[in-house]
Amino acid sequence: MIKADKLFVNGRVLAMDSEFHQFFPGAVAVLGDVIVAVGPEDEILKNYSSDETIDCQEKTLMPGLINAHTHVPMTLLRGLADDLRLDVWLMGYMMPVEREFVSPEFVQLGTRLACAEMIRSGVTAFADMYYFEDNVAQATAEAGMRAVCSQTVMKFPTPDAASYEESLAMAREFIKKWKGHPLIVPSVAPHAPYTCTPEILRATAELAVEFDVPLHIHISETALEVENMRREQGMPVVPYVKKQSILDAKVLAAHCVHIDEGEMRTLKHANAGVAHNPSSNLKLASGIAPVKRMIDLGLNVGIGTDGPASNNDLDMFEEMRLAAFLAKGSSGDPTAIPARTALLMATRLGAKALHIGDITGSLEPGKRADLILVDTHPLHNSPHFRHDPQSSYSQIIYASKATDVSDVMINGNWVMRDHQLLTLDEMELSKQAQVYAEKIDVFLMQREESIMSKLIAIGGAMEEESFEVQLKVRIESRDIVLNALNQSPIQILRTRHYRQYDTYFEFTDPDQGYLRYREDDSVNEKGEVTGVRSRLTLIGQGFERHFPQEVLLWRSRYFAPASQTLRFYREYFKPSSEHEIEKDRLRFMVSFKGTEFYINIDEMNKPSLGNFLEIKSRTWSRNDAEEKSRLVTELIALLGVSNAEPLAKDYIEMG
Ligand SMILES: [Zn+2]
Repeated sequence: MIKADKLFVNGRVLAMDSEFHQFFPGAVAVLGDVIVAVGPEDEILKNYSSDETIDCQEKTLMPGLINAHTHVPMTLLRGLADDLRLDVWLMGYMMPVEREFVSPEFVQLGTRLACAEMIRSGVTAFADMYYFEDNVAQATAEAGMRAVCSQTVMKFPTPDAASYEESLAMAREFIKKWKGHPLIVPSVAPHAPYTCTPEILRATAELAVEFDVPLHIHISETALEVENMRREQGMPVVPYVKKQSILDAKVLAAHCVHIDEGEMRTLKHANAGVAHNPSSNLKLASGIAPVKRMIDLGLNVGIGTDGPASNNDLDMFEEMRLAAFLAKGSSGDPTAIPARTALLMATRLGAKALHIGDITGSLEPGKRADLILVDTHPLHNSPHFRHDPQSSYSQIIYASKATDVSDVMINGNWVMRDHQLLTLDEMELSKQAQVYAEKIDVFLMQREESIMSKLIAIGGAMEEESFEVQLKVRIESRDIVLNALNQSPIQILRTRHYRQYDTYFEFTDPDQGYLRYREDDSVNEKGEVTGVRSRLTLIGQGFERHFPQEVLLWRSRYFAPASQTLRFYREYFKPSSEHEIEKDRLRFMVSFKGTEFYINIDEMNKPSLGNFLEIKSRTWSRNDAEEKSRLVTELIALLGVSNAEPLAKDYIEMG
């Protein structure tokens, strides 16, 4: 008789090994952190004895589930912002809140919360990607869970690093510290090709190869990402990352929603793992990953929940079911991704995708004891059929719920026994999470109070106020002014020809001012567009002074480069109304008596209002406004339109 530490008997064993062995009644023997035997109960009992025998009460005994892609600390952001487009959700909500709140404490608490939730749903290992990953690893190890923990590196400043060099250095230290840990596999995560430079991609690949650790990255999550990559690099995403040596590393590629067959073969050739995230892809309307094709080609495809802010839970039973349903529904083929394959993806194949397939993912002698008991007897799972071995998998995938998981063992240690968590205090975690939620609520409510603070929250806005002295008059024809300008002593410094497309956002509260999204298309002599730039200007209700001849002083103009699309700003700022102005603008930067002015000769096309002359000078203080207003009056006389009727303040169209 061989002595084991723990003997599981009377179980419905789903081994999920390469032969898909099922044993009923089956038994599993565990010695230390390792499974030493799996088989029919009578056979195991003949050879093994133990002081601790666990009666599985005919529950299903199977390998723990592997959550192949998540961002665990984001449990604290669960439900913060939903039903938004990916860019608005990410740039408008997640990133500003993360910049403000993410700290080692935040990450630790969020991780504990996630571990509690995942253990409850039968997850024994997960692949994470976040900031302060050292704290994620710490909290995970304390909870007794297994994880591939990936320290994020990207080109933007992050909550844990001011520069990419800093986060790369952190990743190196992190990997050194955790390499060889029994539960934690450290890893590096260049966030995505579009949030990293080629230099970052190459440096992270080198780091992963140097330490022989996995590299975790988001690949081809949206069609837009692929479209941009094709336009900018002339190739889709997988060949691009290959060019940056990413595939030299042990890659875990999350999403892969929009990859073609050639890319799948490239990933397969590189032995890359793929994490399929059904809920997240559906919720963010990213598309449906061609999972069946990937599986048929032999790729290691696991299943992930993605972060709880885009799911919004960490329930792998739901993900497994969706993975099967999505493959069927999208292909019109009900045989696509059968139950057994879905469970395989969430166990052995998922472990391979995480590059930990040698130690976990199935019940086999030599693998770590990562196993769960699922009660398949509740009403929602009755009755049971036995004529077809596939029905054991159907029960798990199509009818079981996360709450049916009663016991979880990881690395030979119990973390849940008879529905009781042993390493985490749920009540306390919920309480602490609520404290964070209330702080974040206050932050967001304050931000929503003004357009200005919303603008600052997404970054790029200058908090500096500027002023503008401005006169606008209607003119009969552009030529009269152009002739006068060329014959006057006004010194022309620069001439530009634009087509300007302005969209004005107005808000219910007029004190908020209005926000202008302007696209300037530079036009050459032949009338061809030679360049496009977009800017965002917040124009306060800042009419401040009225000089003679309707020269006006405006204040509160805040500028920001418009790095997002018009649609993004519309969905983020939620204006109560908007209107568009299109014009053809001849813009002269001039010097007059030592002061710079802009002289704009506009033809308004939308709405069709004819020609206008605008003279303006920007200033960062109001002190010189008086002098400038006098110069404007002189300029208007020089341009031969001093008898033109200036537009009164309340008549001045925006723009
Ligand atoms: Zn993700």
